[in-house]
Amino acid sequence: MEGVAEHGGGAELDRKALPLIGGVGRGAVRSPTATQFEFVGKASGFNMPATCPQCGAIFPDGETCGGRFDALQWKELEDPAYYAVHHIGVPCYLLQHNAYSRRGWIEVRDLLRRFLRERWTPAMARRRYHAAGEPNGQGGSLTRGEKLPGVERIVWSFTVAEVRRDSADAYGADIRRWGERVLADSENLVRAEVGCPNI
Ligand SMILES: [Zn+2]
Repeated sequence: MEGVAEHGGGAELDRKALPLIGGVGRGAVRSPTATQFEFVGKASGFNMPATCPQCGAIFPDGETCGGRFDALQWKELEDPAYYAVHHIGVPCYLLQHNAYSRRGWIEVRDLLRRFLRERWTPAMARRRYHAAGEPNGQGGSLTRGEKLPGVERIVWSFTVAEVRRDSADAYGADIRRWGERVLADSENLVRAEVGCPNI
């Protein structure tokens, strides 16, 4: 599988990763647009609470998930200690914002599970998927096509809005927590979809 950005050391960016788990940098991830946000509250004006219709994140000051996520990606670029969890945070964000096709959603969630529960590294994922053949070669695109029904109904218990940025330790802990919550919150849907014992 192309697409899992390896980290550490020089933190060289793998921009071919974009279709699967996103890349790094402004514009690499298709963020929710302002029009996708539902504004809540009675007051008018730009700086009012907004909730993301996809992940449920609430920002009190008009910020958006896309803006916050971009800021986190820039922080990762600046500091390798933050980048260490890049391969976990990107799929969390893209899964919650339903960026994948039906097949892509299941595959990327399974990859997230392997990262968290089976201690896979990005390099291990690359070797595994390369050995198995390019997953894009059959079965359709990971990003284009039919969406996995039910993703839009998941109530997410942790979002990008809650990720702390004040230290690399806090950031790493919160990104991992985010990943665990994504797995738990989507467990029923995935069980119904694939019936896989490893969910
Ligand atoms: Zn969101």
